[in-house]
Amino acid sequence: MKWKFWQTKTDEEIRAETKALQSQLDKLTNKASVEADKYNETGRDLERKRNSKCPKCGSTFVNDRIKRQQGKIDGSSSGAFFFGTGGFNSSLHGELDTNEVNKCNDCKNEWKKEKYKWRSTSKIAQDHIRQLAWQLEVLYDARHCDYDPSDIKETYDSKAEKREGLIREANNSYRVNEIKRFFNGTSLKILKLFIDDNCPSYDDYYKRKMEKYWNVNDLLDLGFVQ
Ligand SMILES: [Zn+2]
Repeated sequence: MKWKFWQTKTDEEIRAETKALQSQLDKLTNKASVEADKYNETGRDLERKRNSKCPKCGSTFVNDRIKRQQGKIDGSSSGAFFFGTGGFNSSLHGELDTNEVNKCNDCKNEWKKEKYKWRSTSKIAQDHIRQLAWQLEVLYDARHCDYDPSDIKETYDSKAEKREGLIREANNSYRVNEIKRFFNGTSLKILKLFIDDNCPSYDDYYKRKMEKYWNVNDLLDLGFVQ
């Protein structure tokens, strides 16, 4: 009988399996945590540097102070900082508290205090999930591309050629390396658990996207395992 397959495992086997899954999931989460630490450390260093040296005269004789300001200041026009790290398509944005300024004691220059926006392990995990979802969508779109031979802007000679070209392009994307590097050998089961863990909201945009574009062959090509 069909339903018998799930009765063939003993409780002990099920427990052992759950434990093995948990340990694999922990390993992946730990990877994200190491990345988060690295991000945060770099951000804090940069924050310290920018707040401790006057941008005008270079003096490091600097004080913190709270300045009362009227009205709102648009943080985007001022010293917000962002930086990328080795190919990973994500940047860190400085958050500004318009009430806090640094003051140079040598030239009296005042500038807004920069505050690093801390990133959690989950946020880093979500970045990786987002990248994966994006890649799966691009592959899906490539397979379902439109082809209009009468369109002079069409650079391909046939739909099949276009389809292949777009798939090749998708596979050459920088995302592929990032996905392979981070998820390297992750099983599909663990991937699902990882998504559930880090995108707990039922209607999470990228979780929905992952479900919509979930494609086992594409995932195996990206280095996941059954
Ligand atoms: Zn100065």
